[in-house]
Amino acid sequence: MTSPGLPAVGRLKLAGAAHLFLDLPAQFGDRLRQLPVVLRILLENVLRNAEGAERDAGAAALFAWLATGRSEAEIAFQPGRVLMHDTTSTPALVDIAAMRDALAEAGADPKRLNPCLPVDVSVDHSLAVEAYARPDAAVLNLQHEMRRNAERYRFLRWAAQELRNVRIHPPGTGIMHTINLEQLATVVGVEERDGTPWLVPDTMIGTDSHTPMVNGIGVLGWGVGGLEAQTVMFGMPTMIRIPEVTGVRLVGALGPGVQATDLALVVTARLRELDVTGEFVEFFGPGVTTLAAGDRAVVANMAPEFGATTGYFPVEARTLQYLRETGRVAEAIARVEAYSRAAGLWFDPAGEPRYTRTLTIDLAAVGMHVAGPRRPQDLLDYGATGQALQAIAFAPTAATQMPRHPVAIAAITSCTNTSDPRLLVAAGLLARKAHERGLKPPAWVKTSLAPGSPAAASYLRRAGLLADLEAAGFGIVGYGCTTCIGNPGPLTQAIAEAQRAGAAKAVAVLSGNRNFPGRVHPDLELSFIMSPALVVAFGLAGDAERDLRAQPVQHDAQGVPVFLRDLWPSRDEIDAHLAAAIEAKDFTRDFEEAARNPLWQALQAPTGALFPWDPRSNALRRPPFAAVTEGSLLGSYSAFPLLVVGDDITTDHISPASAIPRDSLVADYLVARGEPRDDLNVFASRRGNWEVMLRASFHSKTLRNLLCPRAPVAHTLHVPSGDIQPIWDVAARYRQAGQSVVVVAGERYGMGSSRDWAAKGQRLLGIRAVLACSFERIHRSNLVGMGIVPLRLPAGVHPATLALRPGDRIEIDAPAHALQVRGTVPVRIVRHDGTVEALAATAAVETALEIALLRQGGVLPAILEKTLAA
Ligand code: SF4
Repeated sequence: MTSPGLPAVGRLKLAGAAHLFLDLPAQFGDRLRQLPVVLRILLENVLRNAEGAERDAGAAALFAWLATGRSEAEIAFQPGRVLMHDTTSTPALVDIAAMRDALAEAGADPKRLNPCLPVDVSVDHSLAVEAYARPDAAVLNLQHEMRRNAERYRFLRWAAQELRNVRIHPPGTGIMHTINLEQLATVVGVEERDGTPWLVPDTMIGTDSHTPMVNGIGVLGWGVGGLEAQTVMFGMPTMIRIPEVTGVRLVGALGPGVQATDLALVVTARLRELDVTGEFVEFFGPGVTTLAAGDRAVVANMAPEFGATTGYFPVEARTLQYLRETGRVAEAIARVEAYSRAAGLWFDPAGEPRYTRTLTIDLAAVGMHVAGPRRPQDLLDYGATGQALQAIAFAPTAATQMPRHPVAIAAITSCTNTSDPRLLVAAGLLARKAHERGLKPPAWVKTSLAPGSPAAASYLRRAGLLADLEAAGFGIVGYGCTTCIGNPGPLTQAIAEAQRAGAAKAVAVLSGNRNFPGRVHPDLELSFIMSPALVVAFGLAGDAERDLRAQPVQHDAQGVPVFLRDLWPSRDEIDAHLAAAIEAKDFTRDFEEAARNPLWQALQAPTGALFPWDPRSNALRRPPFAAVTEGSLLGSYSAFPLLVVGDDITTDHISPASAIPRDSLVADYLVARGEPRDDLNVFASRRGNWEVMLRASFHSKTLRNLLCPRAPVAHTLHVPSGDIQPIWDVAARYRQAGQSVVVVAGERYGMGSSRDWAAKGQRLLGIRAVLACSFERIHRSNLVGMGIVPLRLPAGVHPATLALRPGDRIEIDAPAHALQVRGTVPVRIVRHDGTVEALAATAAVETALEIALLRQGGVLPAILEKTLAA
């Protein structure tokens, strides 16, 4: 066995040519098999990219992990590519455009600033369901999207033209994670080094928390904030602490009628209970091979809902089958098999690597489930929605013909559950049987089907199921995120009126992955997550309280009750239709055809190394923080709390993505700048305009600011004057007076989507530190990326126990030279009556690179400094 410091190089002959690879089994022998596969991939990455002492230390630390399943050591990870979507890429590309301006102003050539890794951008997050249940719905919705977002999309086309390594996948090509699975993932790639081809594992990061979906086919990747992605795309590694790895042993096989969605919901609930926050999760055991790669991807997709960084399934025969079914060429598939076997990355169903801890799930014991009505981890039997809703204790104050909890939205949506053809075919078969019995959804239900892949239309049509779905109201409304990201379009008038009158509390049913209050639609607090087939069933029932286990979905025209069991497709039916419907050539052909989107091609993009900002633009404005002169926010200072909030503050609370309410302060700002009040688009579409996003910060109906609980939405208390004003006005008053501000929060601050605007907004408000009981992983990293120091409150201290009163101030002692990884930061609460309480907070700073970024003022000044120095 070779010593750890000298990588052993193997050779494989593929398609007649010799390829080199790092031969981990030759170098590490039996010890390699003890490592979880995710750590073997990290090991390969360190050995290939690091040099000398850093390489040796990284490899040694990974093997030292075996002793306890834990490590405090950091390693540098260099992913091979970056995936973004239109709403995270727009601000990142705006930052790059602004940094190019800053370079030009500093006398440097702006063309020097380009990503050095491949960056794929999927334009999927801005499609809204305006039209539905009509044959031309997809065309109308695409036209609407293009019209609404034309300026931003012209900017994206400018970026694709002018920046090296940036590739944009236009509207209509599908959802980013589906595109990743079906088009981008190589699983094993080829890298040229000194003219020699090297085989390497396909690794990536994505600016979206559901990036781990690609873990389902053996690609190691995870979600990061936009800022972390910018560090990586500009050639800095992402430093990670060697993670704890929870192994989920799968045994048995799923029973009849049970679908991948049910398994994903069970895994989510079980792992949330275990608390795997920030850990890697890897699946092992004999049950893995009973799942198709499409099923695995559904489970892996929900890694952020488990709270984990990954949900990894190693490569094995069914991975190859998936690659074959989605049209990969034979040569590429042979490469995946040969390399994975030779490099020690091939799955062994009998293997038992060392994990930090393990959990066993018997697939045969998984039943049919839904999750909700407010969190994805709240698992319910599919017949128990009524009980869960009764616990909400809603008392109608007016009469209506509708049920008390009508289904307002029934959406087959999301990469999670529309990428696996099996799930869509099951929904189609249910729709067929409903169609045969003459069932239609009630008029108050807004129905939609928005697949992640344009190939879905081809295989559903070939199976004859598209017509049945259309007959049930579930015609295709487009290929994008739609309802999953909070773009379901307006509710039906009947629902809007019933809610306004207090006659009903409506509910969404969707095949998505998140259901926080307001996530799906600002006027819907309650949503259930479920498989596409169950979405069709609940959509037909129209009543979210209906116990579909015991009560009929509907009665047919003869008055005969139709139960779910009458409609539910058998496994054999699904298998037969899948076999007849799927053709591998659909995936490439339909994707390429969608990429030719004539509306996209017709957009006139500006040219030139510098983007020509338009001062009248309400979509794109040069952000102030992408500048050489932004200083560090570290220091010793006394601050006013700008907001004090409780537990589970999501990035939706901090920086909403959904529709801009027409009667909001943000709306007033845009209307004053010439925008029509009735078509303000969603917050997410304004992320290229920092002035809008500043005003959108903490714009949430459900956010409770403990400093002034009765303040209107997006208002807070200016302590010195006692005035309650919009948050950005209060922040500006503090800034003008030279006073510092901080935020105080409870557990899991920043949970939810990975949006970096949640951190950027706080930077624009002048927030220097966030003191919280705990932070969600990506948001913590984004805060650091914007130069804001996250501080963990000591155990037992919570905003509720701190009981901050107006006039209390917070003294923080965090000078740049003293800040340490997870070091103590002295904090003093100076009460308005002069009494003082001292606390020892902990810097929630995980790596030396993060310390360096905080000292430089964040990622963007660091990139500029590096480019200027090069
Ligand atoms: S999880 Fe939802 S919002 Fe995120 S990429 Fe998938 S469909 Fe889009």
